[in-house]
Amino acid sequence: AATVTTSARYPRWVRVNTLKTTVMDILAGGFKDYTPVNEFQELFAKAGEKEAMVVYIDPHIPNLLGFPPSTDLSAHPLVVSGALFLQDKASCFPAHILSPPPDAFVVDGTAAPGNKTTHLAAIIGRGGSGKIFAFEKDLKRSKVLETMVGKAGADRIVEIRSGNDFLLADPWKEGEKEGLEKVTHLLLDPSCSGSGIVERHEYELLPTTPRPAPPASRTSKMKKRKRGDNAEVTPTNLVSKKEREEITKHNALDEERLLSLSTFQKKIIVHAMRFPSARRITYSTCSVHAAENEHVVLSVLESDVAVKRGWRVEKRDENNFRSWERRGLVEECGGDEEVAQGCIRCNPWEDGGIGFFVVPFVRDGSIDEPLA
Ligand code: SAM
Repeated sequence: AATVTTSARYPRWVRVNTLKTTVMDILAGGFKDYTPVNEFQELFAKAGEKEAMVVYIDPHIPNLLGFPPSTDLSAHPLVVSGALFLQDKASCFPAHILSPPPDAFVVDGTAAPGNKTTHLAAIIGRGGSGKIFAFEKDLKRSKVLETMVGKAGADRIVEIRSGNDFLLADPWKEGEKEGLEKVTHLLLDPSCSGSGIVERHEYELLPTTPRPAPPASRTSKMKKRKRGDNAEVTPTNLVSKKEREEITKHNALDEERLLSLSTFQKKIIVHAMRFPSARRITYSTCSVHAAENEHVVLSVLESDVAVKRGWRVEKRDENNFRSWERRGLVEECGGDEEVAQGCIRCNPWEDGGIGFFVVPFVRDGSIDEPLA
């Protein structure tokens, strides 16, 4: 066990790939020297102390384990072989919430590098007759996706559409649909601002401290600014005129970028909503901006396709993730409590990882004709 120089509260999350192994085998085999714990806090040591060899069994996501922050598993044989995937907890939410049954036809519309595709494949399972169509527009990233799917042992389940734009996928066109007309579940995790992505070293608090936002030092604000998160950067925080001008310009650029991202995000959801047999869609981002999250949801619900086909946000009490407390922001949902409760949020640091947003859309109707 490593001695920690900081007291980061950000576990190393590890997803057990059930296409290759089981949690029981992991805990009885390669990690038998680790003691399973039920308390998240037991993963963290105070600065200068040795981290205990403990492993946390996550109560929200099946087959997800948390290790102390200094644990480096990147070269571990089980990671190299694809039995374990180093995947942030929040990034496991979409596939778990989508939960396709073993015989489902599924689309991952924006798939590379493949964390969620391989997670979906594990949910479908070795014995499942289901299939995942994994679209990835970028050819270079498609290669990474291919490697990851191979490593996960998911080649039989996943059909990779390398270099294919999901927006051009046509489930109605004879000769092109090739099973897309049977797709019932779609996972959409499109490009976003990434404003929820936080780095481990920025959070250094003592274990006894309740987990507030990281110290608002000027340096960390400058770092955030580079990453495109302008949430805490306002001209009044800063001193020089030059810096103020720089921030104002940056915020304007950010708004422009957010607008272009959210336009694309809406388009991709509405496209998925047209799929004839679609019944369940998850939309997710690693952004903390309401513009890419709740606002996208509201705008999609107002679209013709959503209205005509009867799409709605799944209610919290219907959802398999209902015990997760942090939900969408009511004020960003125009005061609609039910929509806000249907959305799932994850705050950076506070929830043990990156900032994230997921919403499940569902529909019960049976309209199968193409819409204009
Ligand atoms: N879900 C992935 C995972 O968990 O590993 C991460 C997806 S990443 C946020 C978004 C991906 O969507 C990028 O690889 C990007 O190239 C791809 N993409 C963007 N627009 C697309 C489109 N219209 N069709 C297919 N892929 C697209």
